[in-house]
Amino acid sequence: MKANDPTLKSWVEVPANSDFPIQNIPFGIGFREDGAPRVVSRIGDMVIDLRALWILGYLENLPFVMEDFDSKTLNKMMEKGKEGTRELRNRLSTLFSLDNDDLSKKEHHIPQILLSIDEVTMLMPVKIGDYTDFYSSEQHAYNVGCMFRDPDNALLPNWKHIPVGYHGRASSIVVSGTDFHRPKGQQKIEEDQPPVFGPCRLFDFELEMGFITYQGKPMGDSISTAEADDFIFGMCLFNDWSARDMQKWEYVPLGPFLAKSFASHVSPWIVTLDALEPFRVSGPVQDPKVLPYLEYSGDKHIDINLEVSITPENGQEKIVSNSNYRHMYWNMNQQLAHHASNGCNINAGDLMASGTISGPEEGMYGSMLEISWKGTKPVQMPDGSERKFIADNDTVTMRGFSEKDGVRVGFGEVTAKLLQAK
Ligand code: CA
Repeated sequence: MKANDPTLKSWVEVPANSDFPIQNIPFGIGFREDGAPRVVSRIGDMVIDLRALWILGYLENLPFVMEDFDSKTLNKMMEKGKEGTRELRNRLSTLFSLDNDDLSKKEHHIPQILLSIDEVTMLMPVKIGDYTDFYSSEQHAYNVGCMFRDPDNALLPNWKHIPVGYHGRASSIVVSGTDFHRPKGQQKIEEDQPPVFGPCRLFDFELEMGFITYQGKPMGDSISTAEADDFIFGMCLFNDWSARDMQKWEYVPLGPFLAKSFASHVSPWIVTLDALEPFRVSGPVQDPKVLPYLEYSGDKHIDINLEVSITPENGQEKIVSNSNYRHMYWNMNQQLAHHASNGCNINAGDLMASGTISGPEEGMYGSMLEISWKGTKPVQMPDGSERKFIADNDTVTMRGFSEKDGVRVGFGEVTAKLLQAK
């Protein structure tokens, strides 16, 4: 894929260690004071206005109409499928390459098309139809199983046969930067006492990656692991906030509910699966052997460095985890194939999240539940305070990027501040 060529350079300046070189070309929804929300991309610290590009004639002979870009979500654009968005990314790559002057020589067009990131507010990129959260990191499932069940039988019997997941709430998924309130709910604080209702006391993040789908197949059809790539538009960072005390009390027998549904946060830039292809890696050996519909060939995992930090109000940032998306047991192809294996329809704009991504060693865990080992190993903060879970007015930030052959393709960040309970 030419747009992934590591030797490509852009005539737009790209700062060192930027997540957004010309090899990335992510998509999002941007908004500037004097205009309406529209589809944007990004190189370095400049935002590319795709509506303006379309009006000025730079996106001709592509399968798009202006309404696809003059939109407050990416959904219309995504309805053009992988072929359409791939051609679009290739066009942007060409237009902004150093060796092409179709746009760079038209100096009067450039201010209409390129905006500084400081001028642009990034909005929720996708109207999410359905949201599914998987539970696909073995270390995370093992850690949780150890804490709440038995280290000798930490994984439940289905775990290595099924990419376990549940349907979550789509409409409370919000974009990075949206402050939110500590949830309230039932908790059973003392084993021998009745439950109480109040602000969550054990408030946690979950470090996850999400993927966004294209229009899938009609109800009744399935998607194979080999076909899955064609139905995945791109990925984002995902923070699946979790109220651990509420979760522990409510989850039997039907799984997560109010401990999850109050809010989740996504990063604003969707990095296409095409842009992530150079960073593919092999996954773990799956033993026992999976059923035929979950078998896959080729490298379907992705090397994405991930980190999580906590920043107290007016305080110093503390990195609390360094993980990697390559640690997943089940990959996206298997998750999507499993999701559609019963004939469930998949729509453009569905979000599927990985589940908490914990690496195999301490320091790589993707939730405070694991990092503080159920509150027994508090994290020391730079200001001398301790964290077992997340405190009011803490800001939690997740960042992620892939790097290879001198090219860094990243996601920016997903960040949000927890306000006190209403
Ligand atoms: Ca989760």
